[in-house]
Amino acid sequence: MNGTGAACSVCGQAKFFVSCIDCRVPLCEGCARFELLAEGCGTVVPAYFCPDCAVNPLVNPNAAFRDDF
Ligand SMILES: [Zn+2]
Ligand SMILES: [Zn+2]
Repeated sequence: MNGTGAACSVCGQAKFFVSCIDCRVPLCEGCARFELLAEGCGTVVPAYFCPDCAVNPLVNPNAAFRDDF
């Protein structure tokens, strides 16, 4: 760690794209998992998760419907 800019916490490449919406780890575009979360009646909220949170049903309500990991 040299403290200048965030590197992706998954693959280590220094190409910060977005932080995981839950655990806030830095992610590159290739490692961020995009989800549309349903909130209330008919509202969907775009969210990016790290691969860990993407498969955690406590964090990602859509995790139960995923089987691509
Ligand atoms: Zn990455
Ligand atoms: Zn996360």
